[in-house]
This record gives sequence, structure tokens and C-alpha cells, in this order.
Amino acid sequence: MCDDVQTIKCPYCEGEISSDAKKCMHCGEWIQTIPQELDKFNWGAFLLNWIWGIMHKKYITLLYFPSLLIPVIGPLAVSIWFGIKGNEWAWMSKTWSSVDDFNESQQNWVRLWFILMIYGFGISFSTFVFLVFLGLISVASGI
Ligand SMILES: [Zn+2]
Repeated sequence: MCDDVQTIKCPYCEGEISSDAKKCMHCGEWIQTIPQELDKFNWGAFLLNWIWGIMHKKYITLLYFPSLLIPVIGPLAVSIWFGIKGNEWAWMSKTWSSVDDFNESQQNWVRLWFILMIYGFGISFSTFVFLVFLGLISVASGI
């Protein structure tokens, strides 16, 4: 027996399909299943929301902008939603060579966020120092 291809039942027509099939060969429905180990929170989608969304062709993440009309709660709620759905959306967005490949790519989004944060903090900090410096000069020259 060389029956090493795992099969699952299509949730729509009950036909037997291979477990890594994305589309049922019997009824043509897209199989919305992701590997079990990816059933977790996607921090990249949570942190970078619409930027992450555009890169994964999930334009529903642009809902982030109208959500800003509800201060704090709106963006937080949609970000949590993106985080929960993130792995599923990202998994469907393209063909991944492996789960590791997928995890690595999603980790990079979190790294990108850290870089943006550090960069953003650096810029605000230098602006602050610069303004304090300007303030000191104007005070000093005023005397
Ligand atoms: Zn089917």
C-alpha cells in the first residue's frame, strides 16, 4: 500500500479530497481549513492592521479607518478581529510552501512593527530634544 496521502471529507459535498487540497475536486468549493497549529492569534495583523491587510489582499482591513471614528474601542476591536482572523486570511491569501515558511513570514510582520515603533520613538525623541534645545537657545539669547 502506498496510501500516504491523507484524505479528509469535503464539508460541502462529503466527497473525499486530499487533506492539503484548497479546492474540492468534486463540488469546486474552496476548503476553508488551515493547519491546526496555525489556529492562533496573528500579532502582525493585530499590530499593523491595514498595512498587513493590503499586503495580504484583505481589503476589509481598511475598515480600520472608519473604526477610528469610535476612539480607542473601534480600532482596538477591529485589530483584535484581524488578529483572530489573521492566520486564516493569510493562509488563504497565497500558496505557502510550508507552515514554517508561513510562520516565518508572519513573524516578520511583528519584527517590522518593532522596527517602526523604535524608529517612530527615535524620531519623536530627537524632535523633542531638538525643541528643548531651541527653547534653551531662545531663553539664553533673551537674557
Ligand atoms: Zn466538495
